[in-house]
Amino acid sequence: MSDEFDVVVLGGGSGGYATALRATQLGLSVALVEKDKLGGTCLHRGCIPTKALLHAGEVADAARDSEEFGIKAELQGVDMPGVNKYKDGVVAKMYKGLQGLIKAAKITMVEGEGRLVAPNAVDVAGRRLTGRHVVLASGSYAKTLPGLEIDGQRVMTSEQALNLPHVPSSVVVLGGGVIGVEFASVWRSFGAEVTVVEALPNLVPAEDVDVSKQVERAFRRRGIGFKLGKPYEKLEHTDNGVRLTIAGGETVEAELLLVAVGRGPVTEGLGYDEQGVTMDRGFVVTDERLRTNLPNVYAVGDIVPGLQLAHRGFMQGIFVAEEIAGLNPPAIDEAGIPRVTYSDPEVVSVGLTEAEAKERHGADNVGTYSYNLGGNGKSNILKTQGFVKLVRVNDGPVVGVHVVGSRVSEQVGEAQLIYNWEAFPADVAQLVHAHPTQNEAMGEAHLALAGKPLHVHA
Ligand SMILES: Cc1cc2nc3c(=O)[nH]c(=O)nc-3n(C[C@H](O)[C@H](O)[C@H](O)COP(=O)(O)OP(=O)(O)OC[C@H]3O[C@@H](n4cnc5c(N)ncnc54)[C@H](O)[C@@H]3O)c2cc1C
Repeated sequence: MSDEFDVVVLGGGSGGYATALRATQLGLSVALVEKDKLGGTCLHRGCIPTKALLHAGEVADAARDSEEFGIKAELQGVDMPGVNKYKDGVVAKMYKGLQGLIKAAKITMVEGEGRLVAPNAVDVAGRRLTGRHVVLASGSYAKTLPGLEIDGQRVMTSEQALNLPHVPSSVVVLGGGVIGVEFASVWRSFGAEVTVVEALPNLVPAEDVDVSKQVERAFRRRGIGFKLGKPYEKLEHTDNGVRLTIAGGETVEAELLLVAVGRGPVTEGLGYDEQGVTMDRGFVVTDERLRTNLPNVYAVGDIVPGLQLAHRGFMQGIFVAEEIAGLNPPAIDEAGIPRVTYSDPEVVSVGLTEAEAKERHGADNVGTYSYNLGGNGKSNILKTQGFVKLVRVNDGPVVGVHVVGSRVSEQVGEAQLIYNWEAFPADVAQLVHAHPTQNEAMGEAHLALAGKPLHVHA
């Protein structure tokens, strides 16, 4: 078997396997190196298992709150082994499907730890794979902070939190970003006492501040505690768990601590440095065509600075394969990548926040409109609260769409089309949105911004 390929991909997560699949579609020969499981973080330790837990949480909430809808059901308990079986079953099915896809595409899977040993070669346990092109896709790991030793029992990252055999009585979540609030939401649905500690002034601090405030209101209603603008200072172990001291001396005690303070790039010891790849704090630096400084060496996914999202990795993989095949694809607009937080409530955003738009276009050139879900029939049926907030350039396109509410993640498709097609409010206002759906709120917001509001109180 020849060990020479058109493309050698190092890492079989979202970014790496997408590169491999698109490259073979384009007639290129591909070796895909993976040391653990094909599918990477997203499939095995990220997107899919967390969303299964969140769905189980939604079922628990539906049982608990059933009387609000006139249904007599009772939440008798949360059987974590049963929840884990359901979650693992979803992952196993997707994993099998993905393995089938890779096999059918005739991609050469190479199992083992890869190392970049030349700009055109990856070594896997003494086997040298050479590629006309090499794509680095080694992904990310859960970071921690000094003084927070991950023991997997009392102090854990999302990795261990995903597989807990029981529901903890209480949890402190350090980090109010997307991973932190998703776990806070799940555990609250399962009945735990939850406190989120965030150093920045808001939950989901990367979002538009109105969105953060709405999530905070919803969490307060759900009985999820949070301490904002308070960096952590000290961790102590107690007889029953942990005690976290935060700025100002306040303490929070809980059975366990989830450290959700972000993810760092997996690049150390992989030969990138030695081969002269330009790095920045461990991340691989690329240009907008995802080229590193080495000829014919590209990088995709979480090792490239920017949003750490699976669909960004997929799209970067497709992009790089097409670039290698000479198709000259358009560069990916990072701001056009949709972002979703799957807690209850869910958050969707694409494009610029109001603050970012004002900074970029000038405060006087930006307009906003928020359509309250209180006016939406389906939102009332679901008993959810939230809004669709639009940010536009005056006399110009919509440059930011932000939505909060239960189940709004499914609206992200239209939001990203609006942004990426640079639609004007009037363009969207003339499209018919089905009634009664929460998606109608998207139409209503555009109708209002185009100057012809329908279900809006003056
Ligand atoms: C709890 C959690 C929830 C998330 N939820 C979402 C979500 O809902 N939506 C979303 O879009 N994103 C989500 N993400 C982020 C998403 O998982 C990542 O953005 C995505 O997995 C990045 O893909 P990647 O290919 O860059 O890296 P990874 O998926 O990390 O894959 C890298 C692969 O490379 C392999 N590898 C590393 N080094 C080597 C080596 N030396 N040799 C061989 N193989 C190697 C690893 O084993 C791994 O399989 C979530 C992440 C977490 C942790």
